[in-house]
Amino acid sequence: MSHHCQNLLIRCMDFRLTREMNKWMEKRGYMGDCDLVSLAGAGKAIADGAPEGETLLNQISLSEKLHHSSCVALVHHSQCGAYAGAYTFASAEEEKAQQISDMKKAAEIIKAKNPGMSVKLIWANLRDDEGREIEFEEID
Ligand SMILES: [Zn+2]
Repeated sequence: MSHHCQNLLIRCMDFRLTREMNKWMEKRGYMGDCDLVSLAGAGKAIADGAPEGETLLNQISLSEKLHHSSCVALVHHSQCGAYAGAYTFASAEEEKAQQISDMKKAAEIIKAKNPGMSVKLIWANLRDDEGREIEFEEID
């Protein structure tokens, strides 16, 4: 029996995202309609050309092949440890700009490898250190 879903959501593994992210996914219709991959830094590995990026790209191809997904939702977030380990940011705005640049780069690579896939970029802004309140923003 075949089973399909429309989306593949790629997010950072950071536990602080989970509670609010699940609420957001429920509200936006992702629950029950998406494959889910969690990796530290999410699309950073793709943008950097890191080996984990290849793994992510393979997961995307697999989701498309097995579940006929057609949309990747790539979620990055503020205060990301994967970025803190690689950069020294002078401000939250600088971190966001770097991550959005990487998200756009990753999106181009994903679309080049999977021409049938569209890519949505989602920015999750933690309003506190613990992820009690998160603001989700779709990036053009
Ligand atoms: Zn993170």
